[in-house]
Amino acid sequence: MEQEYTSNLQVEMKNDCIPTGVYSSNFRAEAGPIREGAYRVKKSCTELKKMAFLSDIPSHCGISGNEIAGTLAKDGSKQCQRDKPATYKEAKNAIKNAQRNLWLTKHPHFNKVDLCHQLQRSHQVITFRLRTGHNRLNSHLHTKLGIGASDQCPCLSAAMTVENILLTCPNYRHLRSQTWPEAIIIQRKLYGSLRDLQDTPVSIEETGLSI
Ligand SMILES: [Zn+2]
Repeated sequence: MEQEYTSNLQVEMKNDCIPTGVYSSNFRAEAGPIREGAYRVKKSCTELKKMAFLSDIPSHCGISGNEIAGTLAKDGSKQCQRDKPATYKEAKNAIKNAQRNLWLTKHPHFNKVDLCHQLQRSHQVITFRLRTGHNRLNSHLHTKLGIGASDQCPCLSAAMTVENILLTCPNYRHLRSQTWPEAIIIQRKLYGSLRDLQDTPVSIEETGLSI
């Protein structure tokens, strides 16, 4: 490519392009030859006393064929390359990406800018424990850790779960109605607006329960 370009410099011309592949998936592979090509162009310009202006043109963008090829290449790079030995770093990245994608599939409500991070630390902890179910309520203690005589709530109406405490337990009906005069869904109590997220841990603290 660079030889063709430098030989073209012998003739008069106003514009030309050096395809660089900046937006392609194999930019790293092309970086060396591009650097070499640019050096030779510069050298030729100096020898010929010509001037070259370099401009970045995103040629891949908006061209449907290239966009499709780019998408396929990207998808392909995520596939397991059974016939190619992987380095430790590549294997580590592949496992990390696969685990991350699996986790995102299992947590469709994950939000990178979770409003929960704006709560005070102790309220973040309560919210996290309510969301994950990893908490000190009887249901988790008894069924997961084998602690306690049963999973029942002291009200004996149901297992002591997050849903029970936040939605139905008669023992905390009065407290709930003070925080939420109108019934709202649990999704909003745990993943709603900042105001919703602020109300929930306060309400839990008022129950006196250790979450
Ligand atoms: Zn209860």
